[in-house]
Amino acid sequence: MSLYVCGVTPYDSGHMGHAFTFCTFDVLVRFMEASGVRVRYVQNVTDVDDPLFERARRDGVDWRSLADHEIELLVRDMTVLGWRPPDVMPRVSEEIGPILVAATRLKRRGFAYHTDALYFDASRYSGYGALSHLSRRSMVRKLRAEELLGVVGANAKADALDFPLWRPSGAGEPAWPSEFGEGRPGWHIECSAMAMRYLGPQIDIHGGGRDLEFSHHESERAQSESLTGKVPFARTWMHTGLVRYNGRKMSKSLGNLVLVGQALERAPAAAVRLYLASHRYGRDWAFQWSGLAQAARFVERMRVLLEGEVRGAGAPKPGTAAGAGPRSVLPKRFAAALANNLDTPTAIRELRAAVRRGDAAAVRTMLPVLAGTASLR
Ligand SMILES: [Zn+2]
Repeated sequence: MSLYVCGVTPYDSGHMGHAFTFCTFDVLVRFMEASGVRVRYVQNVTDVDDPLFERARRDGVDWRSLADHEIELLVRDMTVLGWRPPDVMPRVSEEIGPILVAATRLKRRGFAYHTDALYFDASRYSGYGALSHLSRRSMVRKLRAEELLGVVGANAKADALDFPLWRPSGAGEPAWPSEFGEGRPGWHIECSAMAMRYLGPQIDIHGGGRDLEFSHHESERAQSESLTGKVPFARTWMHTGLVRYNGRKMSKSLGNLVLVGQALERAPAAAVRLYLASHRYGRDWAFQWSGLAQAARFVERMRVLLEGEVRGAGAPKPGTAAGAGPRSVLPKRFAAALANNLDTPTAIRELRAAVRRGDAAAVRTMLPVLAGTASLR
């Protein structure tokens, strides 16, 4: 199975919104692999992006070193949270060649035109809007908001829905030579190019946060299908809900963040994982410290059960408690819950039931799928 998940712009610390997305797809990958399916997992890093350049300028550091540093922190957080790392984490700055090949091909095939930037002609792709089920009016409104945030860039385009594939760089930003002038990629083309390079023209599952459905994924789909003629580009799209905190979407710009590190100061990694997994992946939800504390109490009960069993006769050695042992068959109802559009809350209820009846062997097969991490402390 091929899986592509849109990753971060590495300019600041990871928060629970990022953790929710990446841990959701970690459960998916672990569930597939525990069921005997081989997974090839690609998660990109958007290291050519305005917020990264802005922060580098503000801090007086090189954007590449800032990106390196932030990627290191992300990987560290996710390692503590027990993820099965992606097979490839390509960075935009290292994929400019394939991105330009994709942009040039789109132009040659008549799906793009060049004015102040190279734009994708959305009118040439009849299904634009079908993924997000938005009317033209809502799409135009959302695009204008993105343009005001500087996400989309230049503006000499034929139609409000068109978007840049390649655009001139701003002052002090990196620029690469191309037949469309010195510049940098538009936002969406990077994921079409990287998905194609590492997973081929069609992928099984494409994931990302709900806020990426429009315009990012809508545009990615339009570009990819126009480029290859292969439909669908992604057989399944999975979007994770937004995490709210103090009544608003958890976001850097609103300043209401719970960083992964802050959660890990208060609870073991397995509790953070189970708390995240206690929410349906596609729905928005509100982070509450009391919910995390409850998950931590559950993890403690589980630890007592598993360690008690280890002390008993004929039990596995310590260290095999969460996933280090050979693969065993997942309990039927647990597997059925995850097979049902990744219903993690129901899967957790199966885990809780196993803890209640003291079934350490069942806990040992389910826990690694949901929590990844081998540590319950
Ligand atoms: Zn993407």
